[in-house]
Amino acid sequence: MNIHEYQAKALLRSYGAPVSDGRVVLRAEEAKTAAGAIDGPLWVVKAQIHAGGRGMGEFLEIDAGDAGGVRLTKSVEEASEEAKRMLGRTLVTKQTGPLGKQVNRVYIEDGAGIDRELYLALLVDRQTSRISFVCSTEGGMDIEDVAHNTPEKILSFSVDPAIGFQAFHGRRIAFALGLSGKQVRECVGLMGKLYKMFIEKDMEMLEINPLIVTDEGHLHCLDAKMGFDSNAVARHPEIAELRDTSEEDPKELEASKYDLNYIALDGEIGCMVNGAGLAMATMDIIKLYGSEPANFLDVGGGATKDKVAEAFKIITSDRNVKGILVNIFGGIMRCDVIAEGVVEAVREVGLRVPLVVRLEGTNVDEGKRIINESDVDIIAADNLKDGAEKIVKAVKG
Ligand code: GDP
Ligand code: MN
Repeated sequence: MNIHEYQAKALLRSYGAPVSDGRVVLRAEEAKTAAGAIDGPLWVVKAQIHAGGRGMGEFLEIDAGDAGGVRLTKSVEEASEEAKRMLGRTLVTKQTGPLGKQVNRVYIEDGAGIDRELYLALLVDRQTSRISFVCSTEGGMDIEDVAHNTPEKILSFSVDPAIGFQAFHGRRIAFALGLSGKQVRECVGLMGKLYKMFIEKDMEMLEINPLIVTDEGHLHCLDAKMGFDSNAVARHPEIAELRDTSEEDPKELEASKYDLNYIALDGEIGCMVNGAGLAMATMDIIKLYGSEPANFLDVGGGATKDKVAEAFKIITSDRNVKGILVNIFGGIMRCDVIAEGVVEAVREVGLRVPLVVRLEGTNVDEGKRIINESDVDIIAADNLKDGAEKIVKAVKG
C-alpha cells in the first residue's frame, strides 16, 4: 500500500527526520490559507499523486511549457494560483502511463535552498531477506537511469537484522554521499531513524529522492515515497487510515473487496486462474501462442461460487478483454464450484467475448457436467496448451 508524499513527510517528521513545513490542500478555496501559513520566501507547490517524476510531468489540460507537477513560486498569491490550477487536472509523468492521474490533493511547502541533490532508499531485499540501503550522489533524477549508465555511482548494502542498524552503516552512507564534518553525524542519526521507522511500520520501501544538502549544509528530505506491506497494514490502523483508494485501479480495488487477487495488464485475454504459479504459466502460454494477457485474476483456494461469479464479472468488465481463458487446476478449489460460479456470472451479465474453460483436478467431472448442461456458450479445453491455442484462435480468428 502506498501513501502520498505529504503523509510520508508527516511520518518522517514524527520520527524526527528533517522535512519542510507544509500544508495539504484538498479544495481550491483552502489554497490561499494554506500558502499563507507558510513563511516563504519560496513556496513549492506539489501535485500529490502516487507516482514519481512529477517535476518533469505535464498536465493534459495545461499548455506545455507552463506545466509540471512541482512548481517553485515566490508569493502566497502565486502559490495559491498554482495549487488551484493543479487541482482536478490530470498529470502525466513517466510513472503514470499515458492516461495520467487526476490531482485531487496539492501540497504547499516551504521551499528549501539546495546545495546538492542525493538519492536514498530503503528496500526489502528478497535475495538476502534483509533491509537494504541504496544511495547515490546522483539524486533528483531517475535512479534507473543512473543504475543503467553509471552503476558505480550507486552504493547498496543490507543490514544484518541480528545486529540491526549501527553507526558504521550510517558512516558508510555518509562517505559514499561525499558528506563531511557535522554532516556525517547528521547522516548517521537520520539513517538510524529511517531504519527504525521502516521496521516499526512494516514498510516495503522508502525512497527519498532527492535527499538534499541544504545551502546551510544540513541534510533534508525533499521528497518521500513510501510503500507498506499490505499484509501488515492491519497492525497499523494509523497507516491504514492513510489509504487513498482513488489512487488505486478500480478493478483491483473491487477485487480486493472480495479477497481476490486481480492484476490489470495491457493485452487482450482475460485470465481466471487459481494460484500465482498457474497464473504465470497461463500468461506465458498465451504469449507463446501469439497473444497477450489483459489481466489475471487469481481466485485462490477455497473460493465460493459467489466469489467466482464476482471474479468473472470483474474480468468481463474490462473493455480490453477480447476473450477469456479460465484455467483451473482444482486442488482445494473444486472444479464444480468454479463451473457454478462461471455459469451464474454469465447468466447475470451475459457473455460478449469467447470463453474457453479448462478444468482439471478435484470434482472435474461434476464441473464439466455443470458446464455442459448449462446453456452458456463455452469452448471446452483439455489441457493448458489446448486452452491457450483455442482462446487465441477464437480472438484472432
Ligand atoms: P518528483 O519529480 O515527483 O520526484 O518530485 P520531487 O519532490 O523530487 O521534486 C522534483 C524536483 O523539484 C527536485 O529534484 C528539486 O530539484 C525540485 N524541488 C522540489 N522541492 C524543492 C524546494 O523546496 N526547493 C528547491 N529549490 N527545489 C525543489
Ligand atoms: Mn522525487
